[in-house]
Amino acid sequence: MKKVGIVGAGLVGSLQAILMAKKGYQVSVFERRPDLRKAKLLAGKSINLALSDRGWKALELAGIAEDIRAISIPMYKRCMHALDGTLTYQPYGKEDQAIYSVSRGGLNQKLMNLADDFPSIDYNFNRKCDDIDLKTNTLTFTNSETNQKENHSFDKVFATDGAFSAVRMRMQKNTIFDYSQKYLDHGYKELVIPANADGTHQLDKNCLHIWPRGEFMMIALANLDGSFTCTLFFPMKGETSFDTLKTKEQVSDFFNLMFADAVSMMPTLIDDYFENPTSSLVMVRCDPWNYGDDVVLLGDSAHAIVPFYGQGMNCGFEDCTVFHEMHEEAKGNWDGLLGRFSDKRVPDGNAILDLALLNYVEMRDLTADPNFLLRKKIEAKFSNLYPNKWLPLYSQVTFSHIRYSEALANGKKQDQIMAKLMEMENIHEKWDAPEVMEKLNELVDQ
Ligand SMILES: Cc1cc2nc3c(=O)[nH]c(=O)nc-3n(C[C@H](O)[C@H](O)[C@H](O)COP(=O)(O)OP(=O)(O)OC[C@H]3O[C@@H](n4cnc5c(N)ncnc54)[C@H](O)[C@@H]3O)c2cc1C
Repeated sequence: MKKVGIVGAGLVGSLQAILMAKKGYQVSVFERRPDLRKAKLLAGKSINLALSDRGWKALELAGIAEDIRAISIPMYKRCMHALDGTLTYQPYGKEDQAIYSVSRGGLNQKLMNLADDFPSIDYNFNRKCDDIDLKTNTLTFTNSETNQKENHSFDKVFATDGAFSAVRMRMQKNTIFDYSQKYLDHGYKELVIPANADGTHQLDKNCLHIWPRGEFMMIALANLDGSFTCTLFFPMKGETSFDTLKTKEQVSDFFNLMFADAVSMMPTLIDDYFENPTSSLVMVRCDPWNYGDDVVLLGDSAHAIVPFYGQGMNCGFEDCTVFHEMHEEAKGNWDGLLGRFSDKRVPDGNAILDLALLNYVEMRDLTADPNFLLRKKIEAKFSNLYPNKWLPLYSQVTFSHIRYSEALANGKKQDQIMAKLMEMENIHEKWDAPEVMEKLNELVDQ
């Protein structure tokens, strides 16, 4: 039985451990932090994520989708909060299509618990990977409990140690390897809308709430305990930025001006603002994701992206699905497998980063723009009439398994077509008239 080492017991590492154990491999997982099921790491932090079709596919493959469904909340619509408190709803897809709010810590714990059912998986916590010898597949760890160094060798290594991967760092130095890292000039801060006294949610829990404000935005996703986790995405520097909101008064004035309807639901806003960290958003691209036939990067270690399409984890989970499918196709023969995997996935990792950057502009800006909302309505109507001719880009990314690179190319084409259509006279009045649908049909067929 081949021995597999997995570096990083985050979402992707924990899922990959289950998938590899199901294939009959002996799997050892190494994690820098203590076991988050025992440590009180989550206190005061309730980061939640949107899980969508690509993620679900991998969870189904691992046979654990139902367990995860039980801890997630479907969100069928965006709910946009205008400055004056007016709410506008916009479905994400067809009536029954949703993205799912799930706690990152809760999901990670659940994956680890499910992995415990496999005797062939062992977890090793408090092991920080310092380096890898790529010639011998030997990983070096520091055991933070004993401060001792440990070496472990494996037949195959999956590096799922996140955006600042130690394994990737070695690959950067050792081989022909392209790498780029960039920080977004916007960062984020998590805040909270607590539950009502009876444990119910203060806002519609089946929506992803967005307060789009042009240069910045706040979003809120529901938690199972009745609370919402809010995330303020905001410039790090500049006139209106994390840098300039320094005093309690400034924060209070700013929120009252920009997010007045939310402020009344955020009794701990000021404390949360000053106690919770301001975090930055890093983007990583690299190529290749493998070293020979034995070492491969998956998840954020290969493609750290900004969170605006809700796809970072979903893309990481899709890495696991694609690897699984290619491993099946190769009937378990690893010769050239990781190279082929990397060739296939790198363009998709790059594409989802591009898409996520585009979606930031859409979320913070365009969701408050009447032209944008009209375009969405036209798209939805046309897509219902001609489902084989038009799948909105959001649906391609979120509710399909079309490669990200294809979705990006399709989206660019759709943009050009829509720009032409929006030039039609009185489009705002007659947007759902047969004439408009016919014109769109014509443009698509050109
Ligand atoms: C604000 C925000 C919102 C997001 N929202 C969404 C969303 O809605 N939907 C979505 O799909 N994605 C979202 N993401 C992205 C998602 O969180 C990540 O893509 C996902 O967590 C990546 O999983 P991973 O397992 O690859 O990496 P990580 O989750 O970073 O896990 C890496 C693990 O490796 C461990 N580790 C690191 N270095 C070492 C080392 N040297 N040795 C040993 N262990 C190590 C870490 O402790 C960690 O446990 C969001 C991200 C952010 C920041």
